[in-house]
Amino acid sequence: MDWVDQGLCRAQPDRMFAEGAAQNEAKAVCAACPVRLDCLAYALDHREEYGVWGAMTERERRALLRRRPAVTSWAEIFRAAAAHPDLAPVVTRRDVTPAADRDAPRTPYRAAPARRRRPGTAPAGLDR
Ligand code: SF4
Repeated sequence: MDWVDQGLCRAQPDRMFAEGAAQNEAKAVCAACPVRLDCLAYALDHREEYGVWGAMTERERRALLRRRPAVTSWAEIFRAAAAHPDLAPVVTRRDVTPAADRDAPRTPYRAAPARRRRPGTAPAGLDR
């Protein structure tokens, strides 16, 4: 894991095991990290159960693993995607884009309406 020494969280690794709203702060650190995909691939391939890795929370990683059960090596998938960005990806940008970026409003002046859901139901797009 030679990428670990390049991670932006190396000075405060415990910060990446935040819970609740503090996870968004951890994900913001990851968003600028130069080894984000190495980190995310490691967490997915090793089924890391806790913490924010590569800008994904444990819950987001579980959802991704459920959506892509046939993937045996995320490291391989990310390497192939980097080498051949024009090929149809097995993993979509939505899968690996930090939620904070993905859900950001498209214009600086108009925020998207908040998603609402009934208590006890899963957010849209998550199989639970
Ligand atoms: S992606 Fe996030 S958790 Fe992974 S090394 Fe970088 S800052 Fe740390």
